[in-house]
Amino acid sequence: MMRFKSISEWKNYCFNTHKAYLKNRYFSCWIKQKKVDIFNYTSLEKGALQDIKKSVEGALRLCKGSSKVTMLTRNPSELNFAVKNSILIGKDIMKMVKKSRKKDKSCSARIFLANKRAAGNGLLRFGDALTYVSDGMTIFTFDPSVKYPKRFFRDEVKHEIYHLLGLNAYHEDTEVKGYGKLSKCNMEYNAPSEILCQKCRDGLMSFWEGVKNAKSS
Ligand SMILES: [Zn+2]
Ligand SMILES: [Zn+2]
Repeated sequence: MMRFKSISEWKNYCFNTHKAYLKNRYFSCWIKQKKVDIFNYTSLEKGALQDIKKSVEGALRLCKGSSKVTMLTRNPSELNFAVKNSILIGKDIMKMVKKSRKKDKSCSARIFLANKRAAGNGLLRFGDALTYVSDGMTIFTFDPSVKYPKRFFRDEVKHEIYHLLGLNAYHEDTEVKGYGKLSKCNMEYNAPSEILCQKCRDGLMSFWEGVKNAKSS
C-alpha cells in the first residue's frame, strides 16, 4: 500500500511514472492515437462483442480527443502458431504483434479475444486477461462453455482497458488524503462497478499528462 499526503502529491507521482512505458515507442504513439483493434477468435455472441467494443470505447472516452475502436472477427486457427498444449502463449502473440506493427507502420493497441486459456508469467484462469501495458496488448480468455453475464463485458473489460491505458495500480494499492469517501471503483480487484473513482481517474489523467509532457519536451 502506498500512502500520499495530498491529492497533489498523488497527481505528481502519477505524472512522473511514465519512464518505463516510454522505453517502448509504441506506447506513447498508441496513447496519442487511441486506436484499438480488437481481434475476435471466440464464439461469443454478437451482443457480447458489441458490449466489449462499447466498454473499450467507454474507457477511452476518459481522455479528450478522438479514438477509434475496430472489431474484427477472425478464424481461430490463425492463432495456432501461438498454441502449445491447448494454451495460448502470450509472448508468441506479442512477437507477432511487433512484427505486424512494423509491417503496417501502425501503433494501434491490440486486443485478442480467445477461447483458450493463456499463459504469461503463469497460467491464467478462464475469464482472466493478460495485459502487456507498455506494449499496448491484451488477451482476454473466455471459456466457450460459459455464458458470461453482461456485467462481465462491461466492468471486467473496462478494468482491463484502464490497465492497458497505463493505470497499473489497483484502487486498493494507494491511499490518498483529501478525497473523502470515494465511490465503489472499477479498479478495485474484482471490478465491482463500471465507475472509475475520482482518485483513479486523477491518477490516470495525470499519467497521460506526464506522457504528453515527456514527448513534447
Ligand atoms: Zn486488474
Ligand atoms: Zn479507484
